[in-house]
Amino acid sequence: MTDITNGKRSPSRDHELGMNRSITRRDFLNGIAIGAGGALASPWLASLLGAPAVPSPAQDRPGYYPPTLTGMRGSHPGSFEVAHALRDGTFWQDAGKTIETGEEYDLIVVGGGISGLAAAYFYRRQLGSSSRILILDNHDDFGGHAKRNEFHVAGRMLLTNGGTFAIESPFPYSKEARGLMTELGIDPPAFQKKYADNHVYDGLGSAYFFDKETFGAERLVANPPGGFNGRQGASGKWADFLARTPLSSDAQRDIARIQEGQVDYMEGVPQAEKKARLSKMSYKDFLLKVVKAHPDVIPVYQTRTHGLYGIGIDAVPALDCWAIHFPGFQGMGLDRVPSKGLTFTALGEVTPQEGYFFHFPDGNASIARLLVRSLVPGSAPGNSAEDVVTSKIDYGRLDHKDSPIRIRLNSTAVLARHVGDSRSAKQVEVVYGSDKKAYSVRGKGAVLACWNMVIPYLCPDLPAEQKEALHYGVKVPLVYTVVGLRNWTAFHKLGVRGVSCPGMYHSSLNLDLAVNIGEYKSSESPGQPILVHMLRTPCAPGLSAREQQRAGHYELLATPFETFERNIRDQLARVLGGGGFDPAHDIEAITVNRWPHGYAYEYNPLWDPDWPEGKRPCDIARRPFGRITIANSDAAAAAYTDQAIDQGYRAVQELPS
Ligand SMILES: Cc1cc2nc3c(=O)[nH]c(=O)nc-3n(C[C@H](O)[C@H](O)[C@H](O)COP(=O)(O)OP(=O)(O)OC[C@H]3O[C@@H](n4cnc5c(N)ncnc54)[C@H](O)[C@@H]3O)c2cc1C
Repeated sequence: MTDITNGKRSPSRDHELGMNRSITRRDFLNGIAIGAGGALASPWLASLLGAPAVPSPAQDRPGYYPPTLTGMRGSHPGSFEVAHALRDGTFWQDAGKTIETGEEYDLIVVGGGISGLAAAYFYRRQLGSSSRILILDNHDDFGGHAKRNEFHVAGRMLLTNGGTFAIESPFPYSKEARGLMTELGIDPPAFQKKYADNHVYDGLGSAYFFDKETFGAERLVANPPGGFNGRQGASGKWADFLARTPLSSDAQRDIARIQEGQVDYMEGVPQAEKKARLSKMSYKDFLLKVVKAHPDVIPVYQTRTHGLYGIGIDAVPALDCWAIHFPGFQGMGLDRVPSKGLTFTALGEVTPQEGYFFHFPDGNASIARLLVRSLVPGSAPGNSAEDVVTSKIDYGRLDHKDSPIRIRLNSTAVLARHVGDSRSAKQVEVVYGSDKKAYSVRGKGAVLACWNMVIPYLCPDLPAEQKEALHYGVKVPLVYTVVGLRNWTAFHKLGVRGVSCPGMYHSSLNLDLAVNIGEYKSSESPGQPILVHMLRTPCAPGLSAREQQRAGHYELLATPFETFERNIRDQLARVLGGGGFDPAHDIEAITVNRWPHGYAYEYNPLWDPDWPEGKRPCDIARRPFGRITIANSDAAAAAYTDQAIDQGYRAVQELPS
């Protein structure tokens, strides 16, 4: 994977790239927000860096509005240090005596993502509007992965998703999840019809960028037949497209065969057996050992699974790749019907169902904002799913003493235990770390809507089998980089809206999806500012899926913003240079949404056993424990919003009265 910072940094190249340019990230010290008057936004970090701690909770300070922060976001500096100190066993010695707040609630929710917010919503609906609920989250903003990125470029507000992209799932939304959408005023199919702008990019297609470090020569080649997924985009023959690439003749011949050939590579083998074999081999092995393709084809396909799986084709089963319409299987006579041996995501692909998709301009952050507006009256103006898109949240209202439901940000739970024996206790105590201190609150129950891996540290009293199950899955690391550009004339000149860059630091880049809803208008013409999404998946091919994910966590936390920025500028300059793109002039803002703990771990036939019904680690991990129940998408082993909602619903039903 090309990383231009590996020994190739040069002052003159930095100058060309605009590393010296003043863009919004200049307000950041390696991604750490510097607030008004030079105060550090995170009191915790302030104390680490020797500056005076800000005594009042950060979210109550005037001007506190995390969606507009740029630089290093996602797991931003200040959000994970407490949890890591807890893991490393150093939190308690540094925190000193726990401060009793005296606060008592009906319910304490740990985790302010969609699952935790939905749990609070369901609890209030069930137990009444006077229910007192406290929601704790370690980030400076609510929403978990469903985060909003809000840019202001040349006087225009541009929104996009910092994480969760859209309402879409492998399977139809459940009665509860769909019901919640309806209560929030969201009708995905109707919104998609009404608000998605399907014409602004008319005439622009897709392209591959072949970088010289991986492919020997540098070239942007537009219009692969059928686009990236073979089902849309340009027409034509693959041989003609490939002839324009720098790929070897062996690679060209075999890619054309993979894309267009009608070969049954397992002739005579019964269909069920074919599927069973394909589910136990990677797509890479399928290409090399079954299709017998030349190894030069692998770099072209290696990253194609990154967006959906967070790992490359070496670690994704061939049967999944068939289900998600990868090429090579068209002559094998495989029926598109649900079958064993598919991951959750791929099984949904072969299960017939109606369309249920909508992308809000800020992704599913709009769902989180609608939930917050409902839970905390006065937190945002408006009353429709349309107007929430441009309404401004008043963060000062979120943890207000007059509100029965409070959302406390920058607060990492470090302990959740029963007050007394778990079988008879009437209360749960939750301790959270904030400003390097420990604070205690009590509730009649607690829903842990945080990540499975953190729960054993919070609840040392859990049974050993449950703790082991909670530790099993390893969340998938991902980076959603967003770059604010002054205009998109380079894309227009090159005739592209999305580029696959299989050898580069970010494996793809795309113009933001255009949606016009309420008062929000996306970019309408090439001369206007726009946001570009870039995807990076820090996996380590050759290892098991879980090991790749662990390696990715370390890489992400060890990579400074400057390294991202240099690679972003270099990549955009090289890919779009032919269209006149100038990174020193055209880039207005950069946000790196870093998610070391991204997608929930989905079970994968290549790496995980085929557990009997009810015995998967997530089934054991989500067992209720007295007055403590467990929500979040890890509890379903499925990285989707509806799953997070369903788990929030279940966790509330399991709370004892
Ligand atoms: C980059 C990305 C893109 C995605 N795109 C889609 C998509 O397009 N469609 C879709 O349906 N799904 C998508 N998903 C999956 C979807 O976002 C999740 O399934 C869902 O949002 C998970 O919600 P959650 O509340 O379970 O977890 P999270 O969103 O992770 O929220 C849990 C919260 O708990 C916090 N927490 C953890 N430990 C503690 C602690 N000790 N104390 C306090 N707080 C704590 C976490 O920091 C987090 O804020 C995507 C996920 C990612 C990462």
